[in-house]
Amino acid sequence: MLGKGLLVVISGPSGAGKGTLCKVLLERNKELKLSVSCTTRSPRAAEREGINYFFITKDKFDEMKEKDEFLEYAEVYGNYYGTPMSYVNKVLEEGKDVILEIDIQGALKVKNKYPDGVFIFIMPPTMDELKNRIKKRGSETEESLLRRFRSAFEELNYLSSYNYVVINDEIDPAVNKLENIISAERCRVDRVKSIVLEKINYQEGQYNE
Ligand code: 5GP
Repeated sequence: MLGKGLLVVISGPSGAGKGTLCKVLLERNKELKLSVSCTTRSPRAAEREGINYFFITKDKFDEMKEKDEFLEYAEVYGNYYGTPMSYVNKVLEEGKDVILEIDIQGALKVKNKYPDGVFIFIMPPTMDELKNRIKKRGSETEESLLRRFRSAFEELNYLSSYNYVVINDEIDPAVNKLENIISAERCRVDRVKSIVLEKINYQEGQYNE
């Protein structure tokens, strides 16, 4: 472990497959930690408290907001979502890497607070495929589906606020790319220079005769 952990933010339009990619990424890389968000939306059939989200009331959400307990929060498709700050800070201080799967508004707020974060945008292979994937999920009403699809177009305007883009055509190659990005980021000189030099016992001028 070299220094503080990486804060990795993964965003992209609904239906791009962020959830699936994050799930596989975390299964394959047990050392990565996922930040579980709080939301005011109701759980979907297969979702579990504390695994997918902490499902809380709007009152509780407002209370946490007042107490400044969120690293960021946003209203997305009519519901509120927020990243609890204490967990993220704890994981980073332990030198572990944490994944935030959050929307673009949230990602931009995190970028202000943690410019050192790694910001990755997940894209669908085509917009038609995006629509199919949202439909297939079957959990959305016609209105919610349309809303998600329309926002997808707007969200693409924010692509240049991210450091990396991964097209989710097939799961395995897309997860490989995420792993490669994280590995490369862990080796960046500006992140680890002083720690690496200390590790090899390098002192300036040591071998200048
Ligand atoms: P869903 O309702 O499909 O689970 O999520 C809707 C959107 O909210 C997704 O784009 C997801 O990434 C985003 N989201 C989930 N948790 C958070 C969070 O804590 N903060 C923000 N800003 N967005 C979140």
